[in-house]
Amino acid sequence: MAEKVILVKFGEIAMRGDNQYIFINRLIQAIRRNIDPVGNYYVVREPGRLIVEDRGGEMDYDLVMPRIEPIFGLVAVCPGIRLEEISMAAIKTESLAYMQEMYGDKPMTFKVNARRSNKNFATPSMEICADVGEYILDHMPNMKVDVKNPDVILYVEVRNRIYLYSKIIKTYGGLPYGSSGKGISLLSGGIDSPVATWMMAKRGVEVEGVYFHSPPYTSEWAKQKVIDLAKRIADFTGEFKLHVVPFTDLQLYLLENVPHDKLTIHLKRAMMRAAETIAEQEGAMSLITGESVGQVASQTMQGIYAINAVCKMPVLRPLAGMDKQEIIDIGTKIGTYEISIRPYEDCCTIFVAKHPQVKPRLNVIEKIEQKLTDLDKYLEEAIANREIIEL
Ligand code: ATP
Ligand code: MG
Repeated sequence: MAEKVILVKFGEIAMRGDNQYIFINRLIQAIRRNIDPVGNYYVVREPGRLIVEDRGGEMDYDLVMPRIEPIFGLVAVCPGIRLEEISMAAIKTESLAYMQEMYGDKPMTFKVNARRSNKNFATPSMEICADVGEYILDHMPNMKVDVKNPDVILYVEVRNRIYLYSKIIKTYGGLPYGSSGKGISLLSGGIDSPVATWMMAKRGVEVEGVYFHSPPYTSEWAKQKVIDLAKRIADFTGEFKLHVVPFTDLQLYLLENVPHDKLTIHLKRAMMRAAETIAEQEGAMSLITGESVGQVASQTMQGIYAINAVCKMPVLRPLAGMDKQEIIDIGTKIGTYEISIRPYEDCCTIFVAKHPQVKPRLNVIEKIEQKLTDLDKYLEEAIANREIIEL
């Protein structure tokens, strides 16, 4: 007799000494949060593994696996079975039953990979491999052994209980969400910033989003897109707080009072300042942007320098060294790209300079800003009037 379970492997955090306990608890919490709504499950802790069992009947892999896969800090999830009995005889008969059920009579090659962490179990792993391999060969004429490049590897793990599996679904890695402090992400409806947000979340940073909305120059569609992107990120993080900051008045003020070719730099600096204030209010210690060096005019080194100088918090730019295609590939994999490229009409491009300055000088920018006596007031108003959406 065997019972369907899911084996969950975690990597990096296993090396983190004293923190390991906290990290594993976070993983268990994240798993429970994702699967508790759909059934009666139990998560068992084993050295180096978590085992998810179904207390309500037979495990439905298709239901449960997709809910565990997005969790950060996991290396792989494996649909497998747990044996009732702890004996060589059980390993052999259940391995055969498992292989027959999974692979039927298709001609294929296989090998057995056994690990025995329970040294009370008498048979050493090499011997388990040989015995099980031979037993399968004897009973499944369609199977051949290939130790170098097999179609299937049957894993046998002898722990307090015995587990069998042959599918390892790699997950995203990273660190448990929330284990690396908090950051405020400047989230636009574009391709880059959702990817940047996801990447920092993957490193365990608790993220909140800030979106600067300028109706009627930016449309409700654009805002909806950001909300949908935030929702998608919440599929990974479990929750997501989005601050929608009304920026129209501030933007119009800048439009009237700064040289047109420097508008973008001033606007980005205003965004950073607003984001930093929100970060302070929310107990965050970093900002996150989707900037990538050289991608557009405001992302030259001079541009980044001039934008960065306005805030004291570290600005995390996980895409800084990535090509557009690499960013698109990640966005596609995590399901943000298809939302980002959704077309929408913004009614006006008055804020976009035809020839933005590519090499702004910080001292010039600062001199202009000193004369913007109402800027602080506009910033305060925008922050105070923000809408907070919890996803
Ligand atoms: P994205 O694809 O993320 O929109 P982008 O290639 O359009 O980036 P920029 O317009 O230069 O690049 O913006 C750089 C970064 O500034 C963005 O990645 C994002 O973090 C932030 N940003 C830009 N516009 C907004 C906005 N309206 N609200 C919030 N953040 C923004
Ligand atoms: Mg953009």
